[in-house]
Amino acid sequence: MEIYENEVFTVMKEASHHVAFRKQLIAASAPAKTLEEAVSQWRFLCFVIFPKENLTRCQICNTSIVRAVAIRNEANETVLFIGEDCYDKLVHFAQTKRLESTRIRSRVLERKDIRNIFKDAFPRREDRQSFLGWFEAQDGIPETIRTSLQYVRIAKIAPSVEAARELVAYYNANRLMPADAILDYDIRSAAHKLGVVIPARITNS
Ligand SMILES: [Zn+2]
Repeated sequence: MEIYENEVFTVMKEASHHVAFRKQLIAASAPAKTLEEAVSQWRFLCFVIFPKENLTRCQICNTSIVRAVAIRNEANETVLFIGEDCYDKLVHFAQTKRLESTRIRSRVLERKDIRNIFKDAFPRREDRQSFLGWFEAQDGIPETIRTSLQYVRIAKIAPSVEAARELVAYYNANRLMPADAILDYDIRSAAHKLGVVIPARITNS
């Protein structure tokens, strides 16, 4: 009997959790009559980690969170910071039109896409390490890049595919490398024959 009551309690708790999810998300959306309409307005923005002294709460279910996902409403430009459980629920609903708690693969796949940006840009592991090390010594790094780097230091991954691409592009445009390491021998000797002087250190872009 006791077990039975606990089960009922769990089911009811779960249901009210979903009711709150539906209510909060619709309230934060541009006018939407149904959850389906509301969900279609939101897009993944980036992963976020809050410092321990600055814990925050999921803006949908109010649970304390350290790791969050920022989502942006394309219709009214609102940004919400929500926990990974609510994010999974949101994506699962977008895919299945069913409101239920779940662990989705899309968050895992998003991380895989981000990692692949670095792997494609720097196939050798030591290049990926020197890539991050290079930023440590730089002054005057733009704000968006600095924010991404802070995230990378804590989470060991960039907060989004866009942020990863931005980091790689900034690095390639600004890091001076030995020309010998970037240009192959044929190009260097052709330039030499034409009398073109290639600086000893150049960028990769
Ligand atoms: Zn939540």
